[in-house]
Amino acid sequence: MSSAHIASDEESTPDASVTLDSFISELSPRQPATKRSGSTVDAANAPMSPVKRTKDALSFITLMVGEEATKKPPFKVDAVRALLGKVGELQESISDLLAANASLNGRLSESRAQNAGLVAQFAAVLSEREAACAAKIATALKSRPVTEVLHTSAPQTFANVTRVGRKKSRSRSRNTARQKSKSAARAKKLLESRSGPPEEAFVVTPTADKDVTACKNELWSVIKKHNSAPRIHSIVGKSGRLIIKPQDKETTDLLKKIGRSKTCNLTADTPLLPRLRFDHVDREIDPKELSDLVALQNLELNVDPVDAADFISPVFRTGPMEGVSASWVCSINPKYYSSLLALPIFVGLMRCQVTKFDRVTQCYRCFRFGHPVAYCKEVDAACVHCAKAGHLVADCPSASLPPRCANCGGSHSATDVLCSARTAFQANLLRRTDFGAPPSAPL
Ligand SMILES: [Zn+2]
Ligand SMILES: [Zn+2]
Ligand SMILES: [Zn+2]
Repeated sequence: MSSAHIASDEESTPDASVTLDSFISELSPRQPATKRSGSTVDAANAPMSPVKRTKDALSFITLMVGEEATKKPPFKVDAVRALLGKVGELQESISDLLAANASLNGRLSESRAQNAGLVAQFAAVLSEREAACAAKIATALKSRPVTEVLHTSAPQTFANVTRVGRKKSRSRSRNTARQKSKSAARAKKLLESRSGPPEEAFVVTPTADKDVTACKNELWSVIKKHNSAPRIHSIVGKSGRLIIKPQDKETTDLLKKIGRSKTCNLTADTPLLPRLRFDHVDREIDPKELSDLVALQNLELNVDPVDAADFISPVFRTGPMEGVSASWVCSINPKYYSSLLALPIFVGLMRCQVTKFDRVTQCYRCFRFGHPVAYCKEVDAACVHCAKAGHLVADCPSASLPPRCANCGGSHSATDVLCSARTAFQANLLRRTDFGAPPSAPL
C-alpha cells in the first residue's frame, strides 16, 4: 500500500464517518421525536449534513413558491434571489452527497479486498494446521503397537479379543507351512492310533476297606512274584480308580490272569465303542428304531438278528435344529463299523451319509476334554484366551498378551484344533477304541 493512498484514506475517513452517522440519524424512522430534537440541539454547532441541507432547501423552496403563488404580482426580486440562493445550496449539497457516496464506495471496495485477503490467509493457516494434525496422527498410529490399536478401536467381540494376542506373523507362508506340518503330524498320529487292536487296559477300583494305595501295593507284590521285569504304565483316574496299561505281551497276559482270579480289585477295561455320524436321517424317525431300520433295509450289512436291535445306538443328535433331515452321532458295534462306512446306507426314504466321528468332547466352562458342560464340576467358567477363571473373554485383562491354552499351556486358544493336549487325548481315545476287523476286500 502506497503512502499517498494511506494519506487519502486518512483524509476521507472523518468526512465519511460523519456522512454515515448523519445518514443513519436522518434515515432511521424508529428514532423517537424527542431524541431527534435533542440530537439537533447537540449538532447545532456541528457543520450541517448535506442531507439536512438538501431537505431544508427543498422545504424552503416549496414554502416560498407556495407563498409567492398567492401574491400579486408573484416572485418579487427578493424572493427570486432567496430561491436562487437555496437552489445553489441544493446543488452544493447534492455534490457533497455524491462525493460522500463515492468515498463510501471506495471504502467498501477497499474493505472487501482486505476481507478477501484475510479469508485467504485464514484458509491457508487452517489447511496448514490440518496437514500438521494429520501428520501427527499418522506418526502416533505408527509408533503404537498394532495390537493396542486393534484393542481400543475394534468392538469387544470374541474374534477381536483373541486376535489381539495373536502374533503378527513375519512370514505368512512360513506360518502356513508350520500349520500344515503340525496338521499332518496330528493326522498321522491319529491314524496310527486307530489302526491295530484296541489298547489293553486294566482298572483297579478301590473299595471302602482297601484304598487305592493298598490296592496298588497288593497288585505290585502279586506281579513281582510272577514277573521280575514288568513293563507297566499306570494313571490314577479322576474317579480315584487306578488305570493300569501294560506295555508288553507278558505283562498283559499276567494282568489278564490276575483279573480272572478276581484279586487286587483288578478288572480288564472294556474297549470303547467306535462312533459314526449319520447325516440325512429322516427327522420323523424314532432314534430307538434306527438300528432295526438300518438292519432291515440294508441287507448287504448281514446284521445278525441278535445284534439288529442295538448294533447302532444313537448317542446325541447334531446339526441343524430344523429341516426334513437330522444328523445322529451313534456308537457302533465294532463288527459292523467298516461295513457301515463302506456301503451305501438307506433309512426310510433317504440315503444316509455315514462318516467317522472322532471328535473330542470339550467342556465350554473349564475347556478340559472328555466331558460336556452339563457334567462340568467347575463352578467358575474359564477364559478361553488366558485360561484363568472369573472373567469372560470379552473382559480379559490379558487380551493384549498372547493366548494361553487351558490344557497344554501353549500360546494358542484352548479350542485350537492343533493343540497337542487335544491330539494326545484324542489319540488315547482312539487307541482304546475297538474298530473291529478291517474290511476283508475293497468294495
Ligand atoms: Zn468342564
Ligand atoms: Zn482371560
Ligand atoms: Zn493347547
